[in-house]
Amino acid sequence: MPDKKIITDKSIKFFEKYLNNASPTGYEWEGQKIWMDYLKPYVDDFITDTYGTAVAVINPEAEYKVVIEGHSDEISWYVNYITDNGLLYVIRNGGSDHQIAPSKWVNIHTKNGIVKGVFGWPAIHTRRNGKEEPPKIDNIFIDIGAKDKEEVEKMGVHVGCVITYPDEFQILNKDKFVCRALDNRAGGFMIAEVARLLYENNKKLPFGLYITNSVQEEIGLRGAEMITQTIKPNVAIITDVTHDTTTPLIDKKVQGEASIGKGPVIAYAPAVQQKLRERIIETAEANKIPFQRAANSRATGTDTDAFAYSNGGVASALISLPLRYMHTTVETVHQDDVENVIRLIYETLLTIKSGETFSYFD
Ligand SMILES: [Zn+2]
Repeated sequence: MPDKKIITDKSIKFFEKYLNNASPTGYEWEGQKIWMDYLKPYVDDFITDTYGTAVAVINPEAEYKVVIEGHSDEISWYVNYITDNGLLYVIRNGGSDHQIAPSKWVNIHTKNGIVKGVFGWPAIHTRRNGKEEPPKIDNIFIDIGAKDKEEVEKMGVHVGCVITYPDEFQILNKDKFVCRALDNRAGGFMIAEVARLLYENNKKLPFGLYITNSVQEEIGLRGAEMITQTIKPNVAIITDVTHDTTTPLIDKKVQGEASIGKGPVIAYAPAVQQKLRERIIETAEANKIPFQRAANSRATGTDTDAFAYSNGGVASALISLPLRYMHTTVETVHQDDVENVIRLIYETLLTIKSGETFSYFD
């Protein structure tokens, strides 16, 4: 398996459709439907919960349960305040970046569908020499072409409407995937590909596999916190994105070193169970899968923390996909890394036995 290309024409089509669909935090269900549709042929059952987390299950009757997980939501904005002359001020829904907003197109989600808008910005000619204001949360604003507040309301836009960027999937120089929301649509894609490969290679697992696409990660791991109580897993392998730190203005002494194209990034952190992580590293070495290491002080800031600290403690580990320009509309990953994360999760699953405790005391 390791030599074969993993991503097929069919899977890339799914990835593109899944990425291009907006799935802002709190409004993930259309994306979850696309994701479940793709997985249907490869799994036995699905679980969904009240807030929209979706789980595809293989061997639902098994007592011993292993989770592989990504998150389904993407960062967005909320309409927070409408001025009398019809401009919209925003607040964050997740870690949206005020610095990249000016001159971006936006989609405002309303009951009657998408209303287009633009983040306006004062022209260079009109700004005060030497006293330029940087974009901040309280000075960026959206123009939807309305003459006043009344017209905004007539267009179906109100306080609480959610706002996403329209930027779609593109390939840069053959093997770099570029899109908004690769954080963490890539995770949902990679765990779905693991399920497809298990099915196509006719692998029978001795445990229940819970392929979990959690909602609401971007505002604090909330979907994972909910679903872990429903599944009550024995093991959880989480995948999310992490920073490539090789582009300008990032301090490697603070952020550590990771690069796209150099393999999955395996996390060291208190929430990561040592024996499970060593299993992942041994698996990477045995299968000649390149990998990088990252250290996290205290929390990993990913759904790993939610699974690890649930249900009296769940053996959890984090395999990250290196990514450039996180939370911008041009998030960039390397196809080789996407395939190697899929490979690493797949091969690790094949080593896990039913009933394994990963105890430090055995
Ligand atoms: Zn994120």
